[in-house]
Amino acid sequence: MATQNSDFSDLLHKASGVQDFLRKAVGRLAKRVGSDACSLFLYDHVSQRLTLRATEGLNPKAVGVISLSLEEGLVGLALREQRVVRETQPVNNPQFKLFPEAKEEQFRSFMALPVFKGSTPLGVLALHDRQDKGFDEAQVNRLRDLASSLGAALGDAQMLFDVAQPPEPRTPSPDGPVQRAELIRGRATGDGVALGQAVLLGDGPGNAYLVLPPDVSFHETKSSFQRALKRSLEQIEVLQKETERTLSDVASLIFSTHLLMLKDDSFSGTMESMIGAGTPAPAAVVQVVNQYVEILGKSPSPLIQEKIQDVKDLGHRLLRNLRKIDHPEGDYSGQIVVAEELLPSELVKIAAQHAEGILLFATGASAHVSILAKSLEIPVLFSDDKALFTIREGDFLILDGFSGVSYVNPAPSVTTQFRQLSRHHKEAALQASAVHDKTLTNDGQAIRLLANINLLSDLPVAKRLKAEGVGLYRSEFPFIIRNDFPTEEEQYKVYRKLILEMEGQEVVLRTLDIGGDKVLSYMPPTSESNPFLGLRAIRFSLRNISIFHEQLRAMLRAGHGHELRILFPLISSLDDFREARGHVEDCVRQLAEAKVPHNAHPLIGAMIELPSACEVAGELAQESDFLCVGTNDLVQYLLGVDRTNEAVSNLYTAYHPAVYRTLQRVIRAAVNHDTPISICGEIAADNYMIPFLIGAGIRKLSVNPKLLPQVQNFIEGLSLRNCQVHAEKLVQMGSLAEIHSYLGIEAPTKP
Ligand code: PEP
Ligand code: MG
Repeated sequence: MATQNSDFSDLLHKASGVQDFLRKAVGRLAKRVGSDACSLFLYDHVSQRLTLRATEGLNPKAVGVISLSLEEGLVGLALREQRVVRETQPVNNPQFKLFPEAKEEQFRSFMALPVFKGSTPLGVLALHDRQDKGFDEAQVNRLRDLASSLGAALGDAQMLFDVAQPPEPRTPSPDGPVQRAELIRGRATGDGVALGQAVLLGDGPGNAYLVLPPDVSFHETKSSFQRALKRSLEQIEVLQKETERTLSDVASLIFSTHLLMLKDDSFSGTMESMIGAGTPAPAAVVQVVNQYVEILGKSPSPLIQEKIQDVKDLGHRLLRNLRKIDHPEGDYSGQIVVAEELLPSELVKIAAQHAEGILLFATGASAHVSILAKSLEIPVLFSDDKALFTIREGDFLILDGFSGVSYVNPAPSVTTQFRQLSRHHKEAALQASAVHDKTLTNDGQAIRLLANINLLSDLPVAKRLKAEGVGLYRSEFPFIIRNDFPTEEEQYKVYRKLILEMEGQEVVLRTLDIGGDKVLSYMPPTSESNPFLGLRAIRFSLRNISIFHEQLRAMLRAGHGHELRILFPLISSLDDFREARGHVEDCVRQLAEAKVPHNAHPLIGAMIELPSACEVAGELAQESDFLCVGTNDLVQYLLGVDRTNEAVSNLYTAYHPAVYRTLQRVIRAAVNHDTPISICGEIAADNYMIPFLIGAGIRKLSVNPKLLPQVQNFIEGLSLRNCQVHAEKLVQMGSLAEIHSYLGIEAPTKP
């Protein structure tokens, strides 16, 4: 339980490089835990050895010299058995290994604690004290708290150690295949339009490396490089502050690797010496960046792989600042990023750096990248057209989200048309739609409209468009976007902000829904052959209790003094539900014992997303405080159709007899038990489904906040009586064809 500010972000910002950061971090740890010495051993996954990287109190000359395997010493034992090792007179322990160069003999008490980033082991913290009374429980807890925050920052430092060698010059090969594309077709995330010059960031053929821009000048000197470096540093500091303000839930320390690298001698220092020795500044930037890309690319660790994009990003910024052209921010304004693959965290960084749009190779796309792109309001076009790889740095691109097409170097008349369209689109988006406080059918039935929130940045729209609460907060986004687990404290801040901003209106916090297509880059890859049927959502939480408890405690603390609703995703039985609720009770007890302010009586709900939950909907309705039907998943599990698989997209439909009948049964079960029920899947905003839902008894819908005005407008034209007749008719129909003809819609075409 994080009870004090145990953050290391201030040190990350102030440090002059990696070594300096680590030294200061161990100094702070020793002071806060109250020990005479503190040392950090980092673990190398390839050699499987722990190396002393920083110390406060042991001989500094031992740094980089002492190295041990997991079979050696009490430090190795702590990581091998993943536990705290505490000893008084450690020399008496047979596992103790003496390193004379460390000058350890003077200490009588010892404690070692493994450090993780998520579930990836990063190293071990070893504490020593001259007194022989040992370390007490309070010190262990304090160290645990600090170690979890340090873990987040350490991932970046570890990466920089992996790239210690001086770079050898290499020449990137920007040449792509011969066939040049003029038009690329794909699928867009929204109806936005973007125009700009291409910047290649992906790992596709021809652009795995940073490329020299076509308009580069080779006359830059060492002093212009130093100016560009200083400017880049200042810009990233501003950017970090700005993103923390606007995207506080997902962007904490998101640019920390950039800052650390810019200050690190083996990165910017090497560039500077190369320039001093006669290499033109842009070439030095490209060569050092590509050296990093090459070395990082060899690492099997997904955490390190992820840093490749950071390094290229930084190279891009340095080059732009070196060119001093009309880009005062050195960022992606006026540019469209072309990439083969993007992690959610990379998408956030690119959007924060003002890219106009993103063109992404389709196989790199995932459902959460497109959900996120919508929330970040950046147009993204996914395409599996290999012609994407023929795009060159500096090509002029238009990305048209209306038709799902991207134009490469179009004629000036086309560009003029799209510039106008883009201007109109932006103006229309700024006009606030007229929305009423309450939504009523034309015969007076109130229907409550709430918002589905993915990022805190969705909240202002929800409030402006008068959402009557948050019907679903997808808590996984801060987990997916960042590259490590958010701490309890960080989660608490997000949930608290959400509850306070909604000013007394209902807020439903859903516990972590990862697995399926929502993968965490910092968790070891799973070998599940059916991830949607695997360790997903509540199943993941029930298997990872410490992660679950941290989240529940953060939610309970955030709900202090307010009504709090906690929702479990993918419940498959009453037993799952009871087990999950039991953990809420455990956390309430923990907080009460620790005298931490919290909400001791949260309302607990179950998501109905599985056919099995539908079969026990009555029992779930009886035991829970509310039900929420996640129809996006329910449809896929009822019909056996993967919601993310394009090949079967025509079979994924809610206009199916099984869906209507199941929904009717579930709604009836809830109504019979007087348990509030809402719909929070996409069908809640679908004009073909809303009359059925209202007719079947639904009084609460939770939708993408941007759709609130159109949903309200549609409902205001409906009569409850007609909806009831409509719903009764639909559940009588036994075939898709009959339903299509009744609704007046075409059968979806096969892909
Ligand atoms: C759903 O399944 O309908 C739902 C709202 O959850 P998600 O889309 O986040 O899986
Ligand atoms: Mg779902």
